[in-house]
Amino acid sequence: MIFRQLFDSVSSTYSYVLASRRGGEALIIDPVLEKVDRYLKLMEELDLRLVKAVDTHLHADHITGLGALRDRTRCVTVMGEQSKVDVVSMRIADGDRLTVEGLSLDVLYTPGHTDDSYSFHFGDRLFTGDTLLIRGTGRTDFQNGDSRAQYESLQRLLRLPDETLVFPAHDYKGETVSTIAEERAYNPRLQVRSKAEYIALMGSLNLANPKMMDVAVPANVHIGLAQAELLARGQALSAESAKELVGHSDLLLVDLRETRERHQHRLIPGSLHAPYRDLEENVRPGGMLHELVRSTGKRLVFYCAFGERSAMAVQAAQAAGLAGATHIHGGIDAWKKAGGALADLPA
Ligand code: FE
Repeated sequence: MIFRQLFDSVSSTYSYVLASRRGGEALIIDPVLEKVDRYLKLMEELDLRLVKAVDTHLHADHITGLGALRDRTRCVTVMGEQSKVDVVSMRIADGDRLTVEGLSLDVLYTPGHTDDSYSFHFGDRLFTGDTLLIRGTGRTDFQNGDSRAQYESLQRLLRLPDETLVFPAHDYKGETVSTIAEERAYNPRLQVRSKAEYIALMGSLNLANPKMMDVAVPANVHIGLAQAELLARGQALSAESAKELVGHSDLLLVDLRETRERHQHRLIPGSLHAPYRDLEENVRPGGMLHELVRSTGKRLVFYCAFGERSAMAVQAAQAAGLAGATHIHGGIDAWKKAGGALADLPA
């Protein structure tokens, strides 16, 4: 396995790169905007293809690298379903699995620091975001923070095996890693006898707001791709107009989502499944979608969860010579709101 812990000294943020092998797919957790060049250089050096960029929560102390990484690599951006960001490509919830080639992380919803805080568990490692820090816990006094919820989230994390390595999103003293056993024994915030005591402790902290907060939160809420541009250029269909057109034989409706999402959120009847991770391969000459369009004369209509992956797919298809490709603006989320028909994933 390839594992890297990367540090941004301005915001004291740790970002993590995970991949199963050289030459394979990679995932990054909590990337920082200013470090995007560094991450991409590392990807090149380790011969990795970045396919997913994930934030553990909406950060208040730095601007996320999610949008820039997506723009430069066409990777999928991922956050929790509770996040107030305008658009990410994929939303996850408790119990889901976050996968890249050869790796599968358990997704744990651990609210408290914010109401959109997640932790990711993979083998002997736990990525805790700002839920559990080394000898500390994330503050709960803004962004819908809730010390009661955090107490519950922490209890859940503390039930993981003693030797589990704890990798937080920040450290301000230069600590890099801890374990569940160490934190249970020595984390001062965890030496409380009850939930009420924890709530009282968190309520007595009186912390100043982070320096970057007024800049970072608004920036991090608006990381969505400029889907409006495609719509203005006539290269997107509104969900309403897609409803009129679907079923017409000259359209090739393509679902870019992962099987898990298709299963959970259902699909548009009559659509073909071509997962986003195989997109480049599928749209290039000789690829499955390219040849289907060439042989049938049909027009490609991509869709995904929120329209982000499909907007990137339109760009990739056009670059590969499929000029007529379009997508459903806002994805299946907009389709559902427009009352479009849905089908279950065949068993
Ligand atoms: Fe935070």
